[in-house]
Amino acid sequence: MVQLPAENSILAAAVRRAADEHRLSHAVILTGRGDLTAAARFLAAAHVCEGEHKPCLICRHCRKALEGVHPDVISVQDTEHKELTVEAVRALRKDVYIRPNEAERKVYIIADCRQLNERDQNVLLKIVEEGPPYAAFIFCADSPAALLETIRSRCVMLKYDDGAEAPLRPDAVELCRAFAAGRLLPVTAFLVGLDAKKPVPKREEVSAMLRDCWRTAAEALLLRRGKPRPEPSCAEEARRLADRLTDRQLTGLESVLRQYAGECDYNVGVGHVLGGLAAKWEELL
Ligand SMILES: [Zn+2]
Repeated sequence: MVQLPAENSILAAAVRRAADEHRLSHAVILTGRGDLTAAARFLAAAHVCEGEHKPCLICRHCRKALEGVHPDVISVQDTEHKELTVEAVRALRKDVYIRPNEAERKVYIIADCRQLNERDQNVLLKIVEEGPPYAAFIFCADSPAALLETIRSRCVMLKYDDGAEAPLRPDAVELCRAFAAGRLLPVTAFLVGLDAKKPVPKREEVSAMLRDCWRTAAEALLLRRGKPRPEPSCAEEARRLADRLTDRQLTGLESVLRQYAGECDYNVGVGHVLGGLAAKWEELL
């Protein structure tokens, strides 16, 4: 089983959102704790994926990228030396102008930026700035400080944290169960009740609840696609959703929850979000 960043991680959400909006950056610095290689492959998969929602994790490109065998996803690393050799950097500079083999894009994963000395970084900077449009670069580093300011200023920073998630909020458990019923009424009853509460729930609370529901739906989707064990923090509810909803409902629910959890962060009124959620759910039934 290929290691994946948790679908509910902030990184996975950021990658999916950027991919959906067609604004995946061609130069990313990936920092944080956890398996950065797995996180980088997930991001690389989003670049080469031919599915609709990238990374779909099931198309041939995604599979190869996740397994580390995609010919257009190149890991740049030297396990025998402290730093990358001059030849390795030179080879990269040449390789970048050879068009991708199978995918639309070519992705270079620089697995450990501590291996880049200043000269290497300046060469890479030039490639990042002037390289062909199909080339993308993922710089993995414990800390962005491993890279020169000139590179940092040209990259999007993504932080990966695979720390264990807190258990679901009680209101999220309740809403997940309402969705798992596969009917409209339990969901609208819950949402109307929430909207009528005094005092009105704060935007941050609703956002946290929807985010919990979303990560549960995302986990349920992964279970459906063959993940052997769910994350402990949302296992029971994810299993319930995976058991009771159809594939279309589950896929739709994951996408709708992701969208609305995000909208709560962007100054959209809580009542509007809850109403919109109920309407979308009705469409999925
Ligand atoms: Zn794919």
